[in-house]
Amino acid sequence: MRISRKQFIKTSALIGGGLLLQSNKLLSAVSSGDERFKTIRNNFGVFTEKGGTIGYYIDDNALVVIDTQFPDTAQHLMEGIRKQTSRSIDILFNTHHHGDHTSGNPYLKQFAKDIVAHENVPALQRKRNMKPGEEDKIVVANVTFKDSFTADAGKEKIKAFHLQPAHTGGDSVIHFENANIAHLGDLVFNRVFPWFSLDDEGSFVSWVEYLKKLESGFDNDTLFIFGHGQGMDLAHVTGKKADIAVMREYLETILTFTEKQIKAGKSEEEVASIKEIPQVKDRKANWDNALGINLREAYKELKRK
Ligand SMILES: [Zn+2]
Repeated sequence: MRISRKQFIKTSALIGGGLLLQSNKLLSAVSSGDERFKTIRNNFGVFTEKGGTIGYYIDDNALVVIDTQFPDTAQHLMEGIRKQTSRSIDILFNTHHHGDHTSGNPYLKQFAKDIVAHENVPALQRKRNMKPGEEDKIVVANVTFKDSFTADAGKEKIKAFHLQPAHTGGDSVIHFENANIAHLGDLVFNRVFPWFSLDDEGSFVSWVEYLKKLESGFDNDTLFIFGHGQGMDLAHVTGKKADIAVMREYLETILTFTEKQIKAGKSEEEVASIKEIPQVKDRKANWDNALGINLREAYKELKRK
């Protein structure tokens, strides 16, 4: 049978649409009509409601969840996932200790076989997140690792690794090697000002190096999930290597700027009161004085060297 070009295009579009429907069917039950669930690719999705972006992977023989937000939103996450699978969570990762990534642990623990995090995360959770009388709100990983952790999960090979201090003293990257998707936790605040406090045992200087290593270690196909972005849609909470470079350049900019201020004899208060600098554009503030807070911590870190 000969088909005209016009018919061919029409037929291809129908077949293409059909295939697309089928491959998305697995996650459509989770995400249908609910904007908090977004399908990425190959059984991967993200959940955004409040706090750090949650990543999840579902296949017939695996359920993996990365980060947990808060008790109420962790429950919303599970309600969506339960439309697709009744499995336990084979691995629940915490990318780092911050409360908007780990406060859902107490709720999700009942579904999870293992909670996995870098070895510094449990202590940082207790030190930084625990309030008197609320000790039960701190649920920490039962499996920890120093440099890396690997696991097979259904059709996926997972490698989690930690390189050095950055956003905190315990940031991990969770890489799904077959799909080539990596959750970066808060190593990238995508075009928003990062939260950073030296009390979390991170380092701006070391963070730059961490990101350089990610830029050279991953390829141009890798799809990254970011803890935070300017919005909650996929265009903001996922991205490519170029977006890591934008984050690194921001950190380099504030370090260079602060170094100059120190050399010029400026005080910590003077530097921390700066509201904007020309080198930083197109970065949104999610809280008051976001730049000033970063500059104060950069000042303290550079001074203590
Ligand atoms: Zn964080």
